[in-house]
Amino acid sequence: MNTSGSHNIHSHIGASASERFLECPGSVQLAAHCENESKDYTRLGTAAHDVAAWCLETGSDPMFFPGGKVLHAGEEFPVDEDMAAAVGEYMDYVLSRMELYHDLEGEFPTLFVEQGFDLDHVWAGMYGTSDCVLWFPKWGLLEVIDYKHGEGIPVQVVQNPQLQYYACGAIHRLGAATASSEVEQVKLTICQPRCAHPSGYTRSWDTTVEDLMEFLTNVLVPGIKEALTPGAPLKDGPHCRFCPARLVCPMLTERFETFKHAADMDADPTVVSDLQLGEMYEATETVRIFMKAVEGETYKRLTRGLDIPGAKLVNQKAQRAWKEGAVGAAKAAGLECYQAPAFNSPAQMEKVPGGREFARKWAYKPEAGLTVARAHDIRDKVSARRAVEVFANVPASDT
Ligand code: SF4
Repeated sequence: MNTSGSHNIHSHIGASASERFLECPGSVQLAAHCENESKDYTRLGTAAHDVAAWCLETGSDPMFFPGGKVLHAGEEFPVDEDMAAAVGEYMDYVLSRMELYHDLEGEFPTLFVEQGFDLDHVWAGMYGTSDCVLWFPKWGLLEVIDYKHGEGIPVQVVQNPQLQYYACGAIHRLGAATASSEVEQVKLTICQPRCAHPSGYTRSWDTTVEDLMEFLTNVLVPGIKEALTPGAPLKDGPHCRFCPARLVCPMLTERFETFKHAADMDADPTVVSDLQLGEMYEATETVRIFMKAVEGETYKRLTRGLDIPGAKLVNQKAQRAWKEGAVGAAKAAGLECYQAPAFNSPAQMEKVPGGREFARKWAYKPEAGLTVARAHDIRDKVSARRAVEVFANVPASDT
């Protein structure tokens, strides 16, 4: 925690934090006092963004990234097949949009890569950097494309606050070069190639300048105002995952109380009602985020050589590996050394040239049974099949 008072609260009202602070206004002031440590996956994501920007600026394939490695904040990340395939999907989308416009209009749209903006005239400290903006003048269309390297949580594009914030910034920037009134339509696009989504890896949402101005005036600015007001409320949820304050947040620790209350309220200590179970299930999401934050911080301090009571560093479990010379020795011993080649999985196939198209056509998802998800999950609710229906498909035995 930074108690020096040197923090800049305005650095927490940028576009990338908007989804969080619109959900949890109190997070801005709490986060302003916390170290904004970056996790492994966010560093990897930023490295992938560096590769994507280089590809768009140079028109090159990610496989040809100089040196095959990207240096980010003093750390090296390999531009491996996984990263190249993901960035390649994003590149393909941007290029396809540019080519379509060229084919129809005989000119290319204007491409802006990693375009920074501020909206200080609206509210001091509003800023952001868009991954990619395309301006199609003959269509009056502005498209904001956001690359997401994350593979865990599919990001929704419809009414996405971060993209709407970027679009407001892009319209403002474009207005400096042209007349913003030329923008008639706005397309917001998310490209998240490593995470399955029912609408595909790349998905778009169309909106208008008027609706964006409405968002800016009636949602974003009031949200910022509330976030900067002392005593702004805290609200937990999936957005806590990216909050710098999650280790010190009173709301997250309070969530543990849900389990206690659920147990106390129960008249019969041997029964948990459906309602209580639902409350406890809902709490698991933020409790898990808090526990991960605790584990991460404990690891960080131990690796710095600090003593944390009740915790210690140990060696991770490792897979066995062959010593040098094992292949020759196995052959000499007449052992069966190799397995028959196996057909690539759809995920592996997507990483070979042309494989993505092939997988799109030939891969399918077999039914994998039921699992529990939160009420706000993007997947459709399915009804539990009664046992009688399940067993109706089991062939009768002869005996
Ligand atoms: S951890 Fe969650 S509830 Fe706490 S301040 Fe951050 S976003 Fe808000």
